[in-house]
Amino acid sequence: MRGSEALPGLSDDALQGVTMYRFYVTKVERCHACNGEGWIVHPAWQAAWEQIEPKRLASMKPDELWRWFRGQGYDEIPPEETPCSDCGGIGEVCTEVPLEEALRLLNSTKT
Ligand SMILES: [Zn+2]
Repeated sequence: MRGSEALPGLSDDALQGVTMYRFYVTKVERCHACNGEGWIVHPAWQAAWEQIEPKRLASMKPDELWRWFRGQGYDEIPPEETPCSDCGGIGEVCTEVPLEEALRLLNSTKT
């Protein structure tokens, strides 16, 4: 079968042109690093919660807390939450995938 018969409306020349292109689609998925929240617990706070006894942490005064963080190498008390660097704080990650792969993915999720 000639190309123009397989895809009516396209001449052989045009069909040859089409095969020169590769098509990509944008895959949007939930960010795994932050679970789609867009933010993560600041690593320094994570460390604080792991290293300081909860009751003590809760009763620490700001200057005491500041000294602890300064001991960790921070000039000031960091915010407890920080935007996720994997997704830039939007909670979703976009990647380009070839159209063929996208179609395969869609077909494999259709059950
Ligand atoms: Zn994220």
